[in-house]
Amino acid sequence: MGAMTLAHHESTGAATHEVANQARPLENYNVFEADRVLAGALEREGGEWAVEQARAVGTYAGSANAQRLGREANENPPRLKTHDRFGHRIDEVEFHPAWHELLGAGVGFGLHSLPWTDPQPGAHVARAAMFMCFGQAEAGVGCPISMTYSAVPALRAQPELADEWVPRLMSTNYTGELRPTPDKAGALCGMAMTEKQGGSDVRANTTVAAPLNGGGAGAEYELTGHKWFCSAPMCDAFLVLAQAPGGLSCFLLPRFTPDGDRNRMHRQRLKDKLGNRSNASSEVEFRGAWARMIGDEGRGVPTIIEMVNHTRLDCVLGGAGAMRMGVAQAINHCERRSAFGKTLVDQPLMQNVLADLAIESEAATIAAMRLARSYDEAADGDEGAVEFRRLANAILKYWLNKRAPAHAGEALECLGGNGYVEESGMPRLYREAPLNSIWEGSGNVQCLDVLRGMVKNPAAVEAFFAEVAEAQGSDRRLDAAAVELREELTELDQIESRARRVVEWMALVLQGSLLIRFGDEAVSDAFLASRLGGDAGRAFGTLPPGADFKRIIQRHAPA
Ligand SMILES: Cc1cc2nc3c(=O)[nH]c(=O)nc-3n(C[C@H](O)[C@H](O)[C@H](O)COP(=O)(O)OP(=O)(O)OC[C@H]3O[C@@H](n4cnc5c(N)ncnc54)[C@H](O)[C@@H]3O)c2cc1C
Repeated sequence: MGAMTLAHHESTGAATHEVANQARPLENYNVFEADRVLAGALEREGGEWAVEQARAVGTYAGSANAQRLGREANENPPRLKTHDRFGHRIDEVEFHPAWHELLGAGVGFGLHSLPWTDPQPGAHVARAAMFMCFGQAEAGVGCPISMTYSAVPALRAQPELADEWVPRLMSTNYTGELRPTPDKAGALCGMAMTEKQGGSDVRANTTVAAPLNGGGAGAEYELTGHKWFCSAPMCDAFLVLAQAPGGLSCFLLPRFTPDGDRNRMHRQRLKDKLGNRSNASSEVEFRGAWARMIGDEGRGVPTIIEMVNHTRLDCVLGGAGAMRMGVAQAINHCERRSAFGKTLVDQPLMQNVLADLAIESEAATIAAMRLARSYDEAADGDEGAVEFRRLANAILKYWLNKRAPAHAGEALECLGGNGYVEESGMPRLYREAPLNSIWEGSGNVQCLDVLRGMVKNPAAVEAFFAEVAEAQGSDRRLDAAAVELREELTELDQIESRARRVVEWMALVLQGSLLIRFGDEAVSDAFLASRLGGDAGRAFGTLPPGADFKRIIQRHAPA
């Protein structure tokens, strides 16, 4: 009888349900153009010449194709093949084709090299805008892209190595093949600092570097030891820290030795990670691996810090891009979903949540792009920019990435149950969110770095306050907060245990001042009231009720 009923339904084609009141996927839109805040910042900060390039990245990142590739690359994580079937060591990582396609696209857009291939004013800003957009299709490929971009300034400490490698790293060709680099059109570079016994404290590194022919800057060494984290292990070369006779030093370790053999850098296993699943992060061992020293013996940290500074900029951009994506997804959903007789975007309490997420995103984007400008100015020899960047990079890396996980969680909740389901992309955003806080110096390390920067370099403090002072006199809440911050900084008692409070305050004051100058009026007013004026609760969605929610949401709507 049951079978007959089923057959009857199938033959008449009676619908069991109708799909109603569901949002549409946020795809086939231009991630860049839809982001008015980012588009404004690109022009303002000196990258106006790159609008067309940013548009092209925006079209790509928002396309249904790139969004699908991002999902596939994460659903099919990389696999390590340590040996071939005959037992030879091969140390290869197999990726899903979606990974290669995305990485090829990112390299094709020059996200890994634009400021070096086209070093005109605004080049770092231009790249920053493009990097933020691209990450909204897939964040994992940002890892090798960022490390390759960042390796260049460190490599330049050793001119003959830079002459050999930088042209390869600047190439916009990506093949994904494992071959000696002289035979390859382009190359990518990774980084291996962290060891089991210490990541933040790299001076605890135990990997040993023995000179092969006397040693010194540019000379050949043999490395023995391990690295506990080495991401993007399929890169063509790595910057590595190891203990040489003269102390901790920086090395370039290529995938192949000059005679074309695979270098003795063995991938032990891949990490099973919370997020960032499209990207491989490995544990490696060096068993007499061939490498060349970059910079002087014993100067490993100052040499590699040139690389770390740039990857830290990308952590800031990554945090800002993630928040933008959360806002776009949340508004896209709430504009199309109704509950209790009203579209969600018209429900007063949801308006408060969306507006609060939006002002956080706007503050993040404006600050991140201002920071990117300091890289352009520093490249032009502007000492003030170097001082500003010294503190602002660590302040923003800390604060944006402290906000990002909570922001992603709240944006996810705006989609209700759908937000908890993988297909929405929100779980991926949520899992990725803590990463930019951890790698390249975790939260506490960033805060302590700000303290160190202030002590060693008082001019950096003045550069920070000079930036804030650009908005002085415009708003009493900012003025009062800046005065309070100055007082906080002169009080050195227990400064280390107060470091998070201090750095958070610095971030909010900087963001507040930038929003007054460059943000939307309703956004900056809501930010100052809630973040500096104390008129807010602890969760998102607790802005003072007088804020102009509609205007803020409209400004951030992705349509
Ligand atoms: C997915 C992923 C990929 C990575 N890829 C790479 C890579 O490619 N290359 C690479 O070299 N590394 C990589 N890392 C490693 C990463 O940079 C380190 O994990 C990070 O720097 C922290 O080091 P740690 O894990 O040794 O933690 P620890 O240094 O042990 O720190 C643990 C905690 O203690 C805090 N802490 C440390 N010192 C202090 C202090 N003085 N006061 C107060 N708190 C302190 C830290 O903030 C952190 O919260 C990767 C990490 C992850 C998660």
